[in-house]
Amino acid sequence: MTECLFCKIINKEIGSSIVFEDEDVLAINDINPQAPVHILLMPKKHIANLDDIQESDQGLLGYIQYRAREIARQVGLDGNFRLMTNCGWKAGQRVFHLHYHLMGGKDME
Ligand code: AMP
Ligand code: ZN
Repeated sequence: MTECLFCKIINKEIGSSIVFEDEDVLAINDINPQAPVHILLMPKKHIANLDDIQESDQGLLGYIQYRAREIARQVGLDGNFRLMTNCGWKAGQRVFHLHYHLMGGKDME
């Protein structure tokens, strides 16, 4: 049994608002949105953060960016969005399963 919150969400042990899912990636609405659109994209594979990636993860990481662009289009962000990830506690990371915040729908100063 994993103690990782996002692994539990991926395994459907905890509910979430799913935006997109395939065999490699899950995208969910953030439970505490900081913008009108605030979606979290995560690999289904457990990786703690960008400091934990391996050379063999490059394709997966590129795919997540492609998928973020597709979702951004689907939710109408029209080429205006922020995609960011926090790596490490001091950078603001609170859930230690790699995830990217896709945010938009307002002026992101
Ligand atoms: P970070 O601070 O970069 O680790 O981001 C963690 C994000 O996960 C925050 O934006 C939280 O609002 C979000 N979050 C925490 N628990 C859940 C949950 N159960 N479902 C969806 N989003 C969550
Ligand atoms: Zn995990």
